[in-house]
Amino acid sequence: MGTAFRRFEESLRAECARAGRERSELTLVAVSKTVPLTAMLEAFALGQRHYGESRLQDALPKLTEMPKGTVWHFVGRLQSNKARAVAETFDIVHSLTNERQLEEIGKAGRCIDGLVQVNIAGESSKDGIPATMLDKVLGMVQQCPSVRCRGLTVIAPYSPDPEQVRWVFREAARMAADNGLPWLSMGMSGDWRVALQEGATHLRVGSALFGER
Ligand SMILES: *Cc1c(COP(=O)(O)O)cnc(C)c1O
Repeated sequence: MGTAFRRFEESLRAECARAGRERSELTLVAVSKTVPLTAMLEAFALGQRHYGESRLQDALPKLTEMPKGTVWHFVGRLQSNKARAVAETFDIVHSLTNERQLEEIGKAGRCIDGLVQVNIAGESSKDGIPATMLDKVLGMVQQCPSVRCRGLTVIAPYSPDPEQVRWVFREAARMAADNGLPWLSMGMSGDWRVALQEGATHLRVGSALFGER
């Protein structure tokens, strides 16, 4: 596994150089859903600090066992009845879409970083608001005292050729720029290079680091 992390880091640095970006502009979120604690501890020892989980129940035991200094990203669909517990335990939530989540997050009694998830390609299988609702939802998040509104999250449709989804990342970058938002969570194992070229700041990478699920 150490090899996968080192190899990924090399590719990431090479891609940054090609795209004219600094490595320090990119946060690598290692998506550790289904990954056992032992593998995460190994990754921590290699220097990996940011981890992404998509289900609260699966993440909770790992949350208590990982060393101090671990930064937790919630990247899954955020059911409002779980939002309070997520806000109590995670540092960053990538999947804000509605007001009920914000009300529940408010009950956690702390302030976390949040990103609004936009469903740019309009895929019914995926979470996220339609682009037409962005102004309204961003307004709500920016009003919420428990969330620092940092940016947008996008999951591109799966395609064997990531060039086919470049437009999705480009559109997301335009929306973030139009709204003065600094963070863009986009790019996964199959399409992170294109996402990086289009301005991603947070790559959510699972299988390329931990192996196929
Ligand atoms: C699982 C997951 C990822 C990582 O996917 P890989 O293809 O394994 O890199 C990224 N983002 C979200 C929201 C996920 O659920």
